[in-house]
Amino acid sequence: KNRDPNEREFHQAVSEVVDSIKPVLDRNPEYRSARILERIVEPERVIMFRVPWVDDDGDVHVNRGFRIEMNSAIGPYKGGLRFHPSVNLGILKFLAFEQVFKNSLTSLPMGGGKGGSDFDPKGKSDMEVMRFCQSFMMELCRHIGPDTDVPAGDIGVGAREIGFLFGMYKKIRNEFTGVLTGKGLNWGGSLVRPEATGYGAVYFAAEMLDTKSKTLDGTTSLVSGSGNVAQFAMEKLIQLGSKAITFSDSSGYIYDEKGVDREKLDFIMNLKNVRRGRVSEYADKYPEAVYTPVNPDAGFNPLWNHKADCAFPCATQNEINDKDAAHMVANKVKVLSEGANMPTTPDGVELFLNNGLLYGPGKAANAGGVSVSGLEMSQNSMRLGWSREEVDQRLKAIMKNVHKTCKETADQYGTPFNYVNGANIAGFVKVADAMLDQGIV
Ligand code: NDP
Repeated sequence: KNRDPNEREFHQAVSEVVDSIKPVLDRNPEYRSARILERIVEPERVIMFRVPWVDDDGDVHVNRGFRIEMNSAIGPYKGGLRFHPSVNLGILKFLAFEQVFKNSLTSLPMGGGKGGSDFDPKGKSDMEVMRFCQSFMMELCRHIGPDTDVPAGDIGVGAREIGFLFGMYKKIRNEFTGVLTGKGLNWGGSLVRPEATGYGAVYFAAEMLDTKSKTLDGTTSLVSGSGNVAQFAMEKLIQLGSKAITFSDSSGYIYDEKGVDREKLDFIMNLKNVRRGRVSEYADKYPEAVYTPVNPDAGFNPLWNHKADCAFPCATQNEINDKDAAHMVANKVKVLSEGANMPTTPDGVELFLNNGLLYGPGKAANAGGVSVSGLEMSQNSMRLGWSREEVDQRLKAIMKNVHKTCKETADQYGTPFNYVNGANIAGFVKVADAMLDQGIV
């Protein structure tokens, strides 16, 4: 904390992992003597750079670009790029740190990284976004490569941005390689990549429910966010018979008692992906739905205070605090699967764990996205494309395996159903062992 005094989210992510792995360090003194913990919290490399770009009026702007190359013990650095005004070093270090454990859990050979910029794509024209992406890639291209570091999308970086970034990388390096994932289908992308994180979070919830001989069919779900992860979580919920009654953006949330059906989801996808509008428009289109704007003084988010069986936070970090968690416990929510990264504050997590709610932490529950990114890398290396069924089957199998690993590890360390411990310990051990094997580097 003295070394990185202002990195609140990074400290939060590290503290959680350190709490979980104490018994592992006690059982394995070689981890302590090789200073694995001290090494694993220090990024292998941090790249920060200037991103100058010109808007449609000819005015010059300067944003800050980042890439955190956190750990490459088990594979090339892998993790998304986030474009959002809140982006800073501490947020990206937390995301890169989480990514190391998540990627380890997928069982695919991927190290951990994360990057992005404080650029805000909201309200920018396509040409402005393109010029920004080109300037960003002009610098990033010297640090990444298909066997070195393979970025993907995250908040504010979707198909459009990956296209602009890939086009510039290809032009500068004069090579067509799988240097980014989330690419378009006809230029190296994988089927099911856009769906993977949301689908995966729902598969993980289904696995957790299965331990209690329950299914999602006939349940009601709370979803937050309305971006990539939220949209495909809702799509899978519809397919598995669960009714999503909420979703949101940073301005407010929708409560639709009747639930989001296929037609309504198509409206949301068009609204957010094509027209780039706000969720409030949903209530204009469907008058039975209620829109509630964000109230920054409320101290809690009313989205989490509706009666439901399941919850899928799919927006951003720390969107569920202790009050929200208490509301969900009181409303008897049975299962919560995190599509977003670290959406629950530590005291919220504690409430879930102490009250027997099945709680799937992001680094396990949202591992589906990076898993299919790993499959996209394999397909690019082979210069082949798998069918939708093949990728979806592999995604399902990976999520089943991530769940099993977390559950068995939690049991093994005497904390049954503590998926936080399970994910942290299992993710850590694989990376720590690789670091031991590779010496002090
Ligand atoms: P998108 O940009 O597609 O959507 C983000 C959604 O969250 C939007 O609805 C956005 O609202 C809302 N949101 C973003 N920031 C805030 C904020 N500060 N306060 C309130 N709402 C906010 O991103 P994704 O769906 O890709 O990502 C969502 C979460 O999932 C993130 O935590 C990300 O790290 C995580 N994740 C994503 C993966 C992926 O494959 N894309 C993989 C694994 C995890 P608005 O439109 O108003 O900004």
